[in-house]
Amino acid sequence: MTDAPLRLFNSLNRQVEPFVPVHPGEARVYSCGPTVYNYPHIGNMRAYVFADVLGRTLSWKGYDLTHIINITDVGHLTDDSDAGEDKLEKAAAQKSQSIWDIAKHYTEAFKADVRALNIRQPSQWSVATDYIEPMIDFAKSIADKHCYELDSGLYFDVSTIADYGRLARAVTEEGEGRIDTVEGKRNAADFAIWRKTPPGETRQMEWDSPWGRGAPGWHLECSVMGEKLLGFPFDIHTGGIDHREIHHPNEIAQNQAFCGCAKGSGGLGEATHSGAKIWMHNNFLVERSGKMSKSSGEFLRLQLLIDKGYHPLAYRMMCLQAHYRSELEFSWEGLGAALTRLKRLVMAVEKLRDEPSQAVAEHPKFAPILTRFEDAIADDLNTPVVLTALEDALAVKKVDAGMKRAVVEEMDRVLGLDLLRLKRTDLRLRPKNAQITEAEIEADLLRRKEARLAKDFATSDAIRASLSAKGVEVMDGDPLGWEWKLA
Ligand code: AMP
Ligand code: ZN
Repeated sequence: MTDAPLRLFNSLNRQVEPFVPVHPGEARVYSCGPTVYNYPHIGNMRAYVFADVLGRTLSWKGYDLTHIINITDVGHLTDDSDAGEDKLEKAAAQKSQSIWDIAKHYTEAFKADVRALNIRQPSQWSVATDYIEPMIDFAKSIADKHCYELDSGLYFDVSTIADYGRLARAVTEEGEGRIDTVEGKRNAADFAIWRKTPPGETRQMEWDSPWGRGAPGWHLECSVMGEKLLGFPFDIHTGGIDHREIHHPNEIAQNQAFCGCAKGSGGLGEATHSGAKIWMHNNFLVERSGKMSKSSGEFLRLQLLIDKGYHPLAYRMMCLQAHYRSELEFSWEGLGAALTRLKRLVMAVEKLRDEPSQAVAEHPKFAPILTRFEDAIADDLNTPVVLTALEDALAVKKVDAGMKRAVVEEMDRVLGLDLLRLKRTDLRLRPKNAQITEAEIEADLLRRKEARLAKDFATSDAIRASLSAKGVEVMDGDPLGWEWKLA
């Protein structure tokens, strides 16, 4: 190992900085989890592929990792500032179902996507509604100095802490540009930490509190679970770039208040006041047609990709091909190219699978490639470069196969493509609407081969045409040895 220190981009000071753990030898990471009112779209899953690569890298660097991902089952409104309805209450009303059933169903769906993408399980999934009491206690502890009560709830006064909104890129002074629907707020950027149930209304999810019956504001849960499970300050907080604008600035404001940082002291010049030392944000997966959304009708789910015959790890590959801080545009062609790249890797690795791993670090052919790999991943998780280093390592000629295997094993510890287990045939998924089974295709292809050997080209062409009519493209001479695919 080059021992290149891990350097990460901190959105708080907008700089790449060395990772220095709060607790020596440990890494404590909190990732904002999904709001479970619907299926996650593949953009959401990009956030967890990123957090997974971060976690794998910290483990690979030897840190003892504690990673928390929360499940938001209460509090997230249809607008990130305090407007609209609770997303779960709304979904439950629309479907005439209990919120708890909805949350359970979509939590399971999310976890299935996590498994399919080979994202490691966090140390704990923390569910927001399991933390209502601690949320009320947290709010009580900051209410006197930092909050005020309105008819609609308890609000956080952002003018009571220093550097509010420093994380955000949008103009946040006085919350400019935000939809402001709450009457009586002192500053436009003030936000609810407790939302009272309006008189005459009942909510499926509501609890008693010193500010009346109601539900916690969305930002409160992450402050509380972060503090309870990891302790302030912890090392790294992650989320998508949308969270950089409202959710995380508000979480940080609450954390500053909790840490006793009043205005005049406790500014964010010292990152520990924010609750976490490093705040990291993945950029968005976007669609050419517009913003990816799970609240409007049909959207891109991992299952849709699978139904169309793309292995889920092709999507992971697509994510790894871009730096996490770059916007990534989704297209089916791009996904197809990522699948082809994954197939090539799997083909090359299949031959090495049964080799015993061999020490490799000092080998003159591999040492520079390993250095490139280590420098790239340590440089703010540059996975695109890691992928090319892996391909270069696989292309090295006249070396012991066991050494190559060891290199693959090492690099895949951070990439998480499951290369030593995946088989080429695993990557060929059957599109849901396919009219023909694999066995039938193979049988037809065998007959076609025999016809060609006998120079009976009429039969061979007829078989090809009949396969084509059933959506099977015969791929003679495919460089990957892929004999057919379902269109
Ligand atoms: P949500 O379920 O909406 O709370 O979002 C779950 C995670 O996905 C959060 O970290 C979001 O910031 C992130 N996210 C939402 N949309 C996208 C997208 N299109 N691309 C990447 N990350 C996203
Ligand atoms: Zn959060």
